[in-house]
Parts: sequence; structure tokens; C-alpha cells
Amino acid sequence: MQKRLTLLGSTGSIGDSTLDVVARHPDRFSVYALTAHRNGDKLVDQCLRFAPQVAVVGDAATAQHVEQKLRAAGSKTVVAHGPQALIDVSKSDGCDTVVAAIVGAAGLEPSLAAARAGKRILLANKEALVMSGDIFMDTVRDSGAVLLPLDSEHNAVFQCMPHDGAHGGVTKIILTASGGPFRTREPSTLVDVTPEQACKHPNWSMGRKISVDSATMMNKGLEVIEAHYLFDLPGDRIDVLIHPQSVIHSMVSYADGSVLAQLGNPDMRTPIAHAMAYPDRIDSGVAQLDLAQVATLNFEKPDYQRFPCLALAMKALAEGGVASATLNAANEVAVEAFLNRRIGFMAIAQTVDAVLNALQNRSATSLDVVLEADAAARRAANKIIDSLPVPA
Ligand code: NAD
Ligand code: MG
Repeated sequence: MQKRLTLLGSTGSIGDSTLDVVARHPDRFSVYALTAHRNGDKLVDQCLRFAPQVAVVGDAATAQHVEQKLRAAGSKTVVAHGPQALIDVSKSDGCDTVVAAIVGAAGLEPSLAAARAGKRILLANKEALVMSGDIFMDTVRDSGAVLLPLDSEHNAVFQCMPHDGAHGGVTKIILTASGGPFRTREPSTLVDVTPEQACKHPNWSMGRKISVDSATMMNKGLEVIEAHYLFDLPGDRIDVLIHPQSVIHSMVSYADGSVLAQLGNPDMRTPIAHAMAYPDRIDSGVAQLDLAQVATLNFEKPDYQRFPCLALAMKALAEGGVASATLNAANEVAVEAFLNRRIGFMAIAQTVDAVLNALQNRSATSLDVVLEADAAARRAANKIIDSLPVPA
């Protein structure tokens, strides 16, 4: 039966890759809803190509612009705007599958709505799990939703895990990390890093926020937290291993000494196609891996001194409660400030550390508690950033 998709964040990097896979398999997938924040023109092009029933944007002005262009082109797609519209298309009977590819905390509530409605959720928006992992996983269990990871590492782990739902003999998850653009850069020069340099990832082409997270390695820290919730393993059984080629996307080690790995060219269409068709396998458009050409795979331990954000995320996971929501919110504000040249690169970790120290941790007993922690962390981060020097 054809799957009907709501694609949250369709104008982003994951959105593009998802629509590329959809276009290869019109027999398998149709599009119910597409959503964008402000990039109305790109959304219009996507609507004209994929003819969704609904298109959602962030604000009324963008909605008006999109509506005008769609009507002029003869499209019947209904245009809506705002956070409630995102929730509506996520829980609608019009879709059975929700691809959660909004970046940051803005993706939490629509993703949770999809979970409550028992949808098949293809999760790229790791921040949703980092903020509210227990609440999210409980909701998925209670509603009978199916949660499939799109993040390449977690998709790899999912492929290497036993599929009986138990942990049968699993000793560790090993998340691989490229180490980003600054793996070998002289640490004393990291203060001078510009947004352009930070966004230039050696192996992957991604949105700006996750690109900066990869450069600080906060991304890997968020992924350790994501893995903890997805696979129900404590933080001390989730290792990070630097693997600069990004060919092994992650591994699972077993009691008998076996280590299972998933390999492939670094292209998000592979994990996306895997999750979209699961348990079938379909063409993703990604070239077959040529290991003879790759020739060498290297590994090393992560350097926590050079990448303090990785250590901060692991500490937040160990602390539990709302600490990881606090970490996530402080990081989002700091990354935005860095991209806007208000603070330097090393001030991202400094800000997150200061916010974690300034705010009291408490149990994440409800979504409201999590959202309050998120708001408090944003206020604290902005205050700290205001006191920091603007980079030269
Ligand atoms: P992106 O910046 O390219 O795209 C983000 C999308 O979210 C866009 O469609 C944008 O319009 C929308 N959006 C942004 N702010 C919004 C808001 N406030 N409300 C509603 N919509 C909003 O980001 P991306 O690289 O595609 O990443 C998306 C998510 O997937 C992130 O959580 C990221 O960590 C995760 N992810 C991305 C990759 C990758 O290769 N790009 C890999 C793994 C995981
Ligand atoms: Mg990843």
C-alpha cells in the first residue's frame, strides 16, 4: 500500500534528500503535507512538483505569498501557517508517516503529536529526543507509534541491532564521528574560526545548525543522548569513535566478540530510503560503496579537550532530568549567535557550560516542565552572550 507522508521541514537538507527518494518511487509514496519556515519560494516549487494537500509555513505573510503563487499556478494545495498547523498535519488522518526534519526545538511538538497519533515517525530531529527522551519514548510505546531513526548513526545501529526488540548479548553501541572540519586544526587557533569555516563539513552537506554542531562535536554529544533513548542503553555503554572517512556509520558490539557495522557512502538518502521502505529495501540513488577505492579506514579516540561540547553533552546525560533540554536550548542559542557573528566559536561551549552551571536541574516530569527548562536556558544563554565580546 502507498505510504502517505507529512514531511516536516521539507525545504531543508533532509527534506531535499527525502523528496529525492520519494520522486524515485511514486508507486510507494505520496505526499500529504509539506512544511517550511520562511523559504516560501522553495516550498512553492516543491508543492508544484509533489502536489500535497496541505502546505504549512511559519507566518501569515509567508502564507499569503505562497498561496498567491500556488493559485496563480493552478495548484489546489491548501496553505496554513503557525505551530498549531504543524501539529495538525502531523496527526492528520491524511498521513500515515511523518518525516520529522525540522531543525531544533521547534520540531518537538509536531513530532510528539505524530507520536500521540500513533504514526510511523521517521526521526531526523534529534533535538526532540534530547529535550524530552523519556516522554517521547513513553508516548511512542503507549500509542503504538513506530519510531525509525533517520540520523545516519542511529539508522546504522538500528540495522545492526537484534530485531527481536531485546538487547540479546549487546554490550555496546559504537557511534562513529568524522571529527568535523577541525579534527586536526591547531587548538589555539579555534577561537578564530568563522561561520563559513565551521559550516564546511569534510564529508556531509547539511543545514547550518547541524554543521556547526558537527564542528564543535556537540552533534555527537546530542547523538549519544539520542542513542540512549532510542536503544535504551546507559551512557557508559555508548562509545564515540572518530572515523574520518564517514564510511562506517556506526556499530554494535556483542558479548561473543562480534562487532556489526553498517557501511555506505556518506549520503543521507541511504538511511532515509531504509527507514521509508523498512523492512523492504529500495533504490536510494546512492552509488554502491567501492571499498577498494576507499582503501583505508582510520579510527581514533575523541579528544574531549579540543571538543568540550562532547563532554558537556555526556555530563548532561549522566545528570538526567531536564539537563539535556537545558544543554540543547543553550546550544541552539549559542550556535545562532555564532552564526550571526555575535560570539566566537569557542564561546559556544563556554555558553552551554555556564548555562548548565547556572540553572538547577530537576526531573523531566511533564512536557511543560521540559518547555520551561528550555525557555529558562534560552534566557540564561542570551544573558551570558550579551556579556561576551563580539569577535573581531
Ligand atoms: P536545515 O536547516 O537544512 O532545514 C531545516 C528545516 O526546518 C527547513 O525546512 C526549515 O524551513 C525548517 N524550520 C526551521 N526552523 C523552523 C521553525 N522554527 N519552525 C518550523 N520549521 C522550521 O536542517 P537539516 O540539516 O535538514 O536538519 C534537520 C534536522 O535533521 C535537524 O534536527 C538535524 O540535526 C537532523 N539531521 C540532519 C542531517 C543532515 O544531513 N542534514 C543528518 C542527521 C540529522
Ligand atoms: Mg548523525
